[in-house]
Amino acid sequence: MPLRIGIDLGGTKIEGIALDGGRELARARVDTPRDDYDATLAAIVGVVHDLQRRVPADVSIPVGLGIPGTISSSTGLVKNANSTWLIGRPLQPDLEARLRRPVRVANDANCFAVSEAADGAASGAGVVFGVIAGTGVGGGLVVNGHIVTGANGIAGEWGHNALPWPDEDDRHSPLCYCGKRGCIETFLSGPALAADHERVTGVRLPPPEIVAAATRGDRVADATLQRYERRLARALASVINVVDPDVIVLGGGMSNIARLYTNVPPLWDAFVFACGGDLVRTRLVPARYGDSSGVRGAAWLWEP
Ligand SMILES: [Zn+2]
Repeated sequence: MPLRIGIDLGGTKIEGIALDGGRELARARVDTPRDDYDATLAAIVGVVHDLQRRVPADVSIPVGLGIPGTISSSTGLVKNANSTWLIGRPLQPDLEARLRRPVRVANDANCFAVSEAADGAASGAGVVFGVIAGTGVGGGLVVNGHIVTGANGIAGEWGHNALPWPDEDDRHSPLCYCGKRGCIETFLSGPALAADHERVTGVRLPPPEIVAAATRGDRVADATLQRYERRLARALASVINVVDPDVIVLGGGMSNIARLYTNVPPLWDAFVFACGGDLVRTRLVPARYGDSSGVRGAAWLWEP
């Protein structure tokens, strides 16, 4: 198998990995120089050179890069990045010039999805929808091993659609940083779960403590998680109705809530179109590679 380097450019860390097929040969990690574009480029180049030195190769290893945003297909510049110092920058050609090799760039949620489709929890599946639910909510779509980027580079970004089929519990319709109200992200991110629990109970708890309380038999915490599960089921049913994935893979901090995998699929049946009497075959599974899916997926960008 050919050697590849994957880089995951995050808001706080830059992770790098050298893969031989699916096998990890080396890994590197540095802090992201926040608010400094040139220093960010230099840090990425440093990680690539470090990895290149540590693996047995006498040629330049191809580099894939996952970013918290997308490359505009009309301008070639970075857009939609929450790491705002990247926005409007020609990241790809700048890196190619400094590394003297071609670099493939993709959105980090797309990298996550392609990693899990390649040799992770959705290995062998035809249509895979990857969801990262953590501080935000993002998604990526992979069909037959290939990322679907789309005409605007936003395929899979369902976190800023409105939460579908809202019920009594959803009327407060939170304001989203994107400027709209009631986005899926404002109900399904980690901070959204904590805020929802606080809205009902007056007590602010991080999501792992809400889960622990529910496990101990706390009915109020359990009700918070049941609201979360109903919202996730409706949000995913709207994905199933559009792209009909074989597998939906969950990543990010919220994917550690084990009960989601048993509780959510029975709830989405009522919202998936015309499933009456017919089983919904879509599977909901946790990511195999966890936090490493992003960096592994960046390396997988060089799959032909
Ligand atoms: Zn939004």
